[in-house]
Amino acid sequence: MKPANGKCGTSMENKTGNWRSEKPVVDQSKCIKCGQCTLNCPDGCIFQTPEGAEPNYDYCKGCGICANVCPVKCIKMVVEEK
Ligand code: SF4
Ligand code: SF4
Repeated sequence: MKPANGKCGTSMENKTGNWRSEKPVVDQSKCIKCGQCTLNCPDGCIFQTPEGAEPNYDYCKGCGICANVCPVKCIKMVVEEK
């Protein structure tokens, strides 16, 4: 069965961030820019910047995978304020 919009893998076209109950917050001062969070995010919505990793909260679903794979544990999942 096709999804309602007829396309698969379109999370970056549809803002899905409002599904979230927790969000990842990066302590960029501790980020070693290894890229593991970016590689493992199922929605491709945490990016590498010169300052460190940066989630795009418009698309992040708050799954916590980035926080789990971060080797220096500089991503904390915090309860989303609505
Ligand atoms: S919480 Fe999940 S969806 Fe959000 S940036 Fe991390 S891995 Fe990606
Ligand atoms: S996994 Fe952690 S240390 Fe590596 S780039 Fe992401 S936030 Fe930085």
